[in-house]
Amino acid sequence: MRKPVKFKADGSGQKLSSGYIDWVRHLGRIEMNTTASCCQTCQRNAPVKYVEFYQNIGAVIMRFHKSIKANMCKSCIHKYFWQYTLTTLAIGWLGYISIFVAPVFIVMNICRYLPCLTMATETVTHNPIFPK
Ligand SMILES: [Zn+2]
Repeated sequence: MRKPVKFKADGSGQKLSSGYIDWVRHLGRIEMNTTASCCQTCQRNAPVKYVEFYQNIGAVIMRFHKSIKANMCKSCIHKYFWQYTLTTLAIGWLGYISIFVAPVFIVMNICRYLPCLTMATETVTHNPIFPK
């Protein structure tokens, strides 16, 4: 049986064993590889991935930008990618600063969207009433 790790209030105490640190790293890897979870935008249980999408609207001397950063399912990623990217593509470049910002946002959105295309979609659970 493993000896418990004890710490004192002043921060001193036993040094963490390498076995414990490896175990924590292993748990972190399991957490990172877990894809089935709750989508933060639609609240459905589905495989999710953390993504960030940016939108820019140019108004000659002003610009309006917004972003979404969340763990999203594939359908939400698809929805927000097209919504943010097409808006930026259409009216995102209409400004002195925006003409430089909009292409960057579009490329960033595409770079974040492409890896998500291989994500699994929502799985249909077994239906006991109408089995296959
Ligand atoms: Zn969703």
